[in-house]
Formats: sequence, structure tokens, C-alpha cells
Amino acid sequence: MKVLVINCGSSSLKYQLINMDNEKVMAKGLVERIGIEGSILTHRPEGMDKVVIEQPMKDHKDAIKLVLDALVDSKHGVIKDMSEISAVGHRVVHAGEKYACSVLLNDDVMKALDECIHLAPLHNPPNIIGINACKALMPNTPMVGVFDTAFHQTMPKEAFIYALPYELYEKYGIRRYGFHGTSHKYVSQVAADMLGKDIKDCKIVTCHLGNGASCAAVSGGNSIDTSMGFTPLEGLAMGTRCGDMDPAIVTFLQGTAGMSAEEVNNLMNKKSGVLGISGVSSDFRDIEGAAQEGNERAQLALDVYTYRVRKYIGAYAAAMGGVDAVVFTAGLGENSPETRLEICKGLEFLGIKIDEEKNNVRGKAVDVSAEGSKVKVFVIPTNEELMIARDTKEIING
Ligand code: AMP
Repeated sequence: MKVLVINCGSSSLKYQLINMDNEKVMAKGLVERIGIEGSILTHRPEGMDKVVIEQPMKDHKDAIKLVLDALVDSKHGVIKDMSEISAVGHRVVHAGEKYACSVLLNDDVMKALDECIHLAPLHNPPNIIGINACKALMPNTPMVGVFDTAFHQTMPKEAFIYALPYELYEKYGIRRYGFHGTSHKYVSQVAADMLGKDIKDCKIVTCHLGNGASCAAVSGGNSIDTSMGFTPLEGLAMGTRCGDMDPAIVTFLQGTAGMSAEEVNNLMNKKSGVLGISGVSSDFRDIEGAAQEGNERAQLALDVYTYRVRKYIGAYAAAMGGVDAVVFTAGLGENSPETRLEICKGLEFLGIKIDEEKNNVRGKAVDVSAEGSKVKVFVIPTNEELMIARDTKEIING
């Protein structure tokens, strides 16, 4: 069975065609600048050179058509015809409280996703546009929706209710939803396998540290708490997002500093995080470089970042009443030994001890904990696409 995985952004689209008989990627690629000048497709068929196609794409339907053409192309294609694609798995950011697992995208589900647009105004519309474009081009191929929020639907009420008037939850759905669910689910399962235990018997803190970042407490295979909230702004300091702060700062900026709601929103999402503190960049490679050259604000940005992850690990160990493993994943979690080392410093009292030599690793699933460390520390590359394809296969096979 071959599954096409689609992840649509507002002007971009990522895809992978995965052979689910051996879980190998047959081709993957990226379309950028959809609907704007300079549309470009970079197609990477397995075992062949990459192909770059520059041609106008006025919308997502044009983009998906070009992707399908590339997949069946006689030179750089990997399948003979489109009927070889058994199903399409779509990444969808927000499914509200409606879905705690992946589902077949029928008319009822599409209506429910429309109703969630107000919860994710930047993310859900392009996801929906991508699904509709695929449906138009492949009307007989089943489509499955895999939601970033679904894995966190197991959180207990005390973890997801904000201390605001309860009516706001009832009227507007204001609560913690959590994101990166597909990634937290994938790496926690791999961690249980590495522990050699049934996930039902494991307490795991997963740290997804990419440009966006979140921690989750995964107890018995269920997410019981996570650091992102109503939106992906809460929690850790991120590349450009502020994460946790006193909400009174918002009204202060609007009142005393005279900023509009939109300006504050933009500041918290795009100008804050390690970019805001360092003034250097949102990319940790640049910040680590600047810190090494003695830039104090760059060092401060790294310190704020690692301190906050450390605090969440401690909090989630408390929430679960213990911890068997801490997992680092995503761009920074997989590739920055210094960040992992710094985060784990001071957590020895919890039984978390990292081995500096083993920790000197990038992009591989490795146990980096020191001999005798009560809690295992794992680096696990995330694979959201594979998780989406697995869910899609499971649903199609009933
Ligand atoms: P992601 O959102 O998961 O793609 O992660 C992207 C982020 O990971 C980048 O913005 C970088 O800050 C960080 N990153 C990737 N590679 C490295 C590396 N070798 N060292 C430090 N940070 C890295």
C-alpha cells in the first residue's frame, strides 16, 4: 500500500509518498511560493537526483497537480499511475475537541474543521484548501485527516482548563489544546520501545524543540499535559514566540505603550522568543555562534530557553509522579548536544544524568544517558510523516 502524505501551509506544501509495505519513502518534496510569483517545486525521488521545476502555480490545486505529475513522470517519477496511491493522509493543525484520533475526511468532518477555523485562523484554512484540492484531483482516493491536537485530547480537565470564567470555555472553547501531537505520540512510542517496556507502563517527558517548541507529559501512552495551549504561543520560549508570560503585559502594551491588539499579537508571535532576547536571529545555530563570540544577549537567550525547558521537565515529572525517560526531538532537540546538556544540568536530583560523550550525536535515535542514570535520556528524530501514513493505513484498513 502506498500513502501520500500532504502538509499544506498558506503558500507552501510538503509531501512524501511512503510505501507502507516497508515504510520507506519513495519520494518527497516541497512546493513553495504557491499563488505568488516564482512558484517552485523541489522533487526528491529516492535514489535519483532532485528535480527543480519552476512554473506558475496560482493555487494549491495547481501545486498538487504538479506534485502528482512529478510522481508519475516517466523520468523522475516513482509510480506508474495515480491509482497506485491507495490513500492520502493530510496534516491538519486544529480539530478542536471533536477528534481524539485520526479520521476519514467525509463531509461531516470537513464541516467540523470549518467550525475550528476561528481556533487556528492561520493554519486550518490552508489545510482545508489542500484537502479540497486533493479531493478534486483524486475523487476516488480516500483521504484521512491527522490532527496536531488529537493526541492531547486525553489531558484531564485540571490540565486543560484555564483559571478564567468557565463560561468562556463553554462559549468560545477557550482551553488548552496543545500541538505537535503527532510528534509527541511518535517519539513517546519509540522511547517505550527503547526502554523495552509497554508504553502503558511508561512515564515520558517529550521535548519537541524546533522553531516552534513544546514539552508533553506522556503517561501510559496518553498525553496528560503539554506546554502549548489555546494556541501554539504558550509554554517554552521559541524561535520568535514568547511562550509563558504574565498576561497583564498584553494590556500594559496596549494601554501604556499604545500598541494595537494586532501589533501585540505580531510582537508575541514574530518578534519575541530567542530572536527578541538576543536581537541576533531566531536560528539557534546563529545564536550559539554569537554566544561563543561573547555576545551576552545571545547567551542570555540560550539561558532563558534551556531554563524553561528544565522547569517543564521538573513540572511534568511532578505531574506524572515520576519519569522513566526524557526525549529530545526536532531541529534543536536532535541536533544540539550543547542545548541538551544545558537542559539536563541540575536535574540529577530527579535521576536524570546525561553522558557527555554519548550526547555528542546528531539526528540519530540514541540513548545518551550516563551509566546508572535512573531516568533514560533519549535523542529520537521525529517522523510526523510516517506517523500520518501509519494512521492513514490503519483507517483505510478499518
Ligand atoms: P524544526 O522547526 O524542527 O525544523 O527546527 C528548526 C530549528 O532547529 C532551527 O531554527 C535551528 O534553530 C535548530 N537547529 C537545526 N539544526 C541545528 C544545529 N545543528 N544546531 C543547533 N540548532 C539547530
